Amino acid sequence: MKHLFHPSLYDFNQAQPSYWEDTAGETTLNNDKLGGSQSCDVAIIGAGYTGLSAALHLARDFDIDVCVLEAGHIGWGASGRNGGFCTMGMTKLSLKAQLKKFGVEQTRAFHQSQAEAVNLVRALGEDENIDFLAQGDCEFIVADNDAHFAEMQKQAEIESTLLGLDITLHSRDAFREIGYDSPHQHGALAHRPSFGLHPLRYALGLAAAAERRGARIHPYSEVLSWRKQGETHVLETAGGSLRAKQVILTGNGFMPEHLHRGVEGRPLPLQSAIVVTRPMSADELGQKRWFTENPTINSKHMFFYYRLLSDGRFLLGGRANHIGDPAGAEATYAELKQSIARMWPQFAGIDYTHQWRGLVCFALNLRPSIGRMPEDPSVYFGYGYHGNGVNSATWSGRELAKWLAGSESGGGLVPRHLPALVRGRPPRFPLARLRRQYLRLGLCIYKLRDRFDW
Ligand SMILES: Cc1cc2nc3c(=O)[nH]c(=O)nc-3n(C[C@H](O)[C@H](O)[C@H](O)COP(=O)(O)OP(=O)(O)OC[C@H]3O[C@@H](n4cnc5c(N)ncnc54)[C@H](O)[C@@H]3O)c2cc1C
Repeated sequence: MKHLFHPSLYDFNQAQPSYWEDTAGETTLNNDKLGGSQSCDVAIIGAGYTGLSAALHLARDFDIDVCVLEAGHIGWGASGRNGGFCTMGMTKLSLKAQLKKFGVEQTRAFHQSQAEAVNLVRALGEDENIDFLAQGDCEFIVADNDAHFAEMQKQAEIESTLLGLDITLHSRDAFREIGYDSPHQHGALAHRPSFGLHPLRYALGLAAAAERRGARIHPYSEVLSWRKQGETHVLETAGGSLRAKQVILTGNGFMPEHLHRGVEGRPLPLQSAIVVTRPMSADELGQKRWFTENPTINSKHMFFYYRLLSDGRFLLGGRANHIGDPAGAEATYAELKQSIARMWPQFAGIDYTHQWRGLVCFALNLRPSIGRMPEDPSVYFGYGYHGNGVNSATWSGRELAKWLAGSESGGGLVPRHLPALVRGRPPRFPLARLRRQYLRLGLCIYKLRDRFDW
């Protein structure tokens, strides 16, 4: 099976009609497709944050000859169309489960690496002169009801004392003055050093920085087949072929599972959809009593993520259905708009200018995966960021580059220098063809949990 969801989600020649595509700015990227017969030391499949960050770090820090093949335009996947939350996440394991399975030290190391990953993005922006329009200085998580706020207070205590995270709690009244008011606002927690950015500008900036350091990046060059000739990998596209000693396989929610049996049946793609309003003036926002540019999520299982953009537009995203068809997407956009009117009556009736969708990636063990294929250790991979990725895919790409270049962890199959939570490969789903049905069940359970607050 080539792709799990509806084919409309895999049209590599078509960009999503996103606000980011409309405001990406000019690029100086070399936009050549792969042509003829070429070779390199390291081939990377996929030009999202994982692949681009790996390419940049390999070329810049280790002077390695690297070539990236991308099926669509640079950043075509989730990296060019996400919400732009450079925030911490990357796993859906509860904190209790993380502590039970990995212990305090490793759980702390994981959370610290997430904060480090946010700082890495900021630093790349500065060092590589990427104009990604940074906004805000934290992420807010807003309690949907009083019970959630009470739970949040307990969680904040653990996160700051045990995990060393930078957390601030705001009561409902306090958050009304710095954030917003809503019948669904019962206090909030702020995580630093998170912030918001323009995701496509960031992806294009990473690509430009990698090209400046000698990396080759070929858009519209879908890898159609992959074989080994002796120790050499041969990747074929419609226009050419690429020979490489090592391969980094990325793809996350768009993972080309058919290319390598080591990844088949392991990722669980899941749709996320976004709507964006017309711009609002500062006066209008003042009247609506919206005061924050910080990226924000609410505390539900089926949570929404939302933020004010630099030109006064409001962006909101949430989960979509398990099929991925265009009619289902339209229904999701309508639901997202209704949710906005319900949560913030002051925004009811506002006009919308953009709506789009894409795939994130979950896994059976509910955590990300960085490793080498047991079937062929010359193949590295990083995926499964569980709805997160601006910071974590960037970090994963850098860590893959360091590992591959030999400066960390040595020759094993898992990166021992990284927190245990991200090591190795997720299990294959039993009856993997049924993954969308598992997803359907999971989404129903999440909805019920929200409804009955369990
Ligand atoms: C709507 C939406 C909102 C999101 N919001 C946020 C957010 O606010 N904050 C956050 O941290 N994360 C968010 N995410 C998740 C985040 O965007 C991803 O985790 C991250 O971009 C993954 O990066 P990646 O490079 O691993 O994968 P991707 O960016 O998905 O890139 C994979 C690439 O592989 C390419 N590819 C696939 N098959 C082939 C092939 N055969 N040959 C060549 N290339 C191929 C694809 O074209 C694609 O460009 C969101 C995702 C979506 C969809």
